[in-house]
Amino acid sequence: MAIRDNLESINSEIRSCCKDFSRDEESVKLLAVSKTKPLEMLKEAYEWGQRDFGENRVQEGEDKVPNMPKDARFHLIGHLQSNKVAKACMYFDVIQSVDSLKIAKKINNKCGEIDKIMDIYLDINISGEDSKTGFSPGEEFITSVGEILEMKNLKLLGLMGIASHVEESETIKGDFIRLKELLESINSRYGLNLKELSMGMSGDYREAIECGSTMVRIGSSIFGSRGFR
Ligand SMILES: *Cc1c(COP(=O)(O)O)cnc(C)c1O
Repeated sequence: MAIRDNLESINSEIRSCCKDFSRDEESVKLLAVSKTKPLEMLKEAYEWGQRDFGENRVQEGEDKVPNMPKDARFHLIGHLQSNKVAKACMYFDVIQSVDSLKIAKKINNKCGEIDKIMDIYLDINISGEDSKTGFSPGEEFITSVGEILEMKNLKLLGLMGIASHVEESETIKGDFIRLKELLESINSRYGLNLKELSMGMSGDYREAIECGSTMVRIGSSIFGSRGFR
C-alpha cells in the first residue's frame, strides 16, 4: 500500500478539479481519514506532508494523538457521545461532528474548564437518511446556531455533511448544494462570513469540489479499504 502515491494522486486530482471548476487550488484542503488504520500509516502520510487527520472514534484519538508530531491536526468526524466529551476535548483540535445543541453545550462547558477554544463544524443530515446523524436543516436549526454562536469556548467554522449514498451525481450534487445554501442562510441571518464546507469523500469528492467544498474527507483512497465495521 503506497500511501505516498495515493496522497500524490489525490492531491493532484483535487488540484485538477479546482482548475475544472475555476476554484483557487488553496481553497480545498485534504482531510486524511485514518479511522481504523494503524499509527504507522498516519506517520507515513505525515512524512509526505499530510497534516490533517480524521477519526470517528474518541478512543482512536486517545491512542494516536499523543504519538503523532504536535503539528498534526486531528478532526473528530464521528458522532460524539456525552460520556466521551471530556476526552474528545482533550485530544482533538477540531470537532466536525457537532450534531445537537446538547452536545455543543457539553463541549463548550468542558472546553471552558480546560481553557480551550474548540474549532467546530455542525454536522447536517443533508441526505435526510434516517441512519445518518446530524441536525435537520430548517428554521429550528438556524435558531440553534444563534445559541451556539453565544458559546464562548466554541469557534464555529462551518458545516459538515455526507451526501446520499446513491449513484446519480445529480442527487449527490443536490445534497452538497443544499449544504452550501444552508451556510449562506446562516451567514446572512447572523451577519457572518463562515466559509468552511466539509463535504466529499473518496466516492464523491469531485462533485463536492464542484459544489464548493473547502475540505474533502478521504479515507479509503489514501489508506486502502477498511472492510466492514
Ligand atoms: C469514513 C468517513 C469518511 C471517509 O470515507 P472514504 O469513503 O473512506 O473516503 C469521510 N467522512 C466521514 C464522516 C467518515 O465517517
